[in-house]
Amino acid sequence: MNVVTRFAPSPTGYLHVGGLRTALYSYLYAKQQNGTFILRIEDTDQARLVPGAVDALIATLKTMGLPPDKGPYIQSERLELYREHVQRLLDKGDAYYCFCTKERLTALREEQQAMKSPMKYDRTCLHLSKDEIASKIAANEPHVVRLLVPEGKTTFTDEIRGEITIDNKEVDDQVLLKTDGFPTYHLAVVVDDNDMSVTHIIRGDEWISSVPKHVILYNMFGFTLPKFAHLPLILNPDKSKLSKRQGDVAVEDYLAKGYLPETLTNFVALLGFNPTADREIYSFDELVQLFDLSKINKSGAVFDHAKLDWMNGMYLRTKSTPELIALAKPFFEKSQVSIDPSFLERICEIEKDRLVTLQDLADRALEYLQSIEFDPAILVWKKADATDAKMHLVALRQVLEKTPDDMFTDRILLEAAVKKYIEEGSYQNGNVLWPLRAALSGKEKSPNPFELLWIFGKQESLKRIDHAVSLLK
Ligand code: GLU
Repeated sequence: MNVVTRFAPSPTGYLHVGGLRTALYSYLYAKQQNGTFILRIEDTDQARLVPGAVDALIATLKTMGLPPDKGPYIQSERLELYREHVQRLLDKGDAYYCFCTKERLTALREEQQAMKSPMKYDRTCLHLSKDEIASKIAANEPHVVRLLVPEGKTTFTDEIRGEITIDNKEVDDQVLLKTDGFPTYHLAVVVDDNDMSVTHIIRGDEWISSVPKHVILYNMFGFTLPKFAHLPLILNPDKSKLSKRQGDVAVEDYLAKGYLPETLTNFVALLGFNPTADREIYSFDELVQLFDLSKINKSGAVFDHAKLDWMNGMYLRTKSTPELIALAKPFFEKSQVSIDPSFLERICEIEKDRLVTLQDLADRALEYLQSIEFDPAILVWKKADATDAKMHLVALRQVLEKTPDDMFTDRILLEAAVKKYIEEGSYQNGNVLWPLRAALSGKEKSPNPFELLWIFGKQESLKRIDHAVSLLK
């Protein structure tokens, strides 16, 4: 069997993390099976069109390493195909015209709501005669075409949920063709998945309740049923459905914050699926090899932000310093940080292990560049006083001043020079290293003083020490 999967988003203007998972799983499965991955834009809801959304989506898929093999197919460019299919159903009596007004349908819904009965169209228009229909159409009366749901039961197998049977009594006579002549999602999805020979429909759980309608349509058209796989919901840590309110849901927002595409694919791949019990970092090729529809969980997958942060840090640490600098370039531009390249390399080298995002690197670099203002109290080690701190800073300044410039390119030599001062005076490390570190960073917490001396170089280090000394009375 030639496997064909598809990603069929509505062009909302951004890629939701749930959409990324659908696209990713569909892509992984197609690649693993030497199949084809299709992109289809489901834009039949003309009221919800967002300009530029399709290009933006394609760009994001490319960034994420998920370029489609075919497409984008655009549903609004395929209207004739849907109309032909609706005509086939009308001709066979599997669909019917409906002229009910919005007002009537609203009143019907309210009535059903009040009686607590299932909300379904009451088939008033099913009983119109051929002549009545013809004259209404001739008079340009607005109308839709509805599916005539047959009696009986509908059964299908979901690869994740197993066999599902539903009584057709529960299925509404779905609108297939809208007043504006556009198909509804339900008609277009069935026609297109068949037309594009899609063999595996992988998508979010929210679509599972639509499958009975689709299966009815497949049967009416005589199409071969594809395999369905509905992925578990993605949840907030409090187990509610992932929502904007509790954090970002757009992949573009994560990229803009400096999460790497490879982190996001790895992280999203594990939402509802864990290839092996013993680890969480997988290369893209491993994901292709290990992807297994039968191993996808039925229950919801929690979006764990702390895990995402951890994972991004892990991926950032696999990058070389030049790679990191290149990746962080847009973030420097955004933050308007312009920095000497060798200074940046040293910052990168020291900060690498502590980064969560690429934005962090730009933020840290900015901090190193800024002149520092701080409370002089931070210069004083907890077991010492200001006089002691000042005395050591003044002495260290002399030591460092005498240290040749080229020693500042070697952290080990800088450490040896400061340690020699400590040993010769039999001081405690804290008395010396604490004020030095705080003087250089202007912060209570920072990299160690040798790293800071190395980052700043001689002139800037001396300047910072002088500034600290001037703050100590
Ligand atoms: N157009 C639907 C969406 O926006 C796709 C549903 C499907 O994959 O069938 O998510």
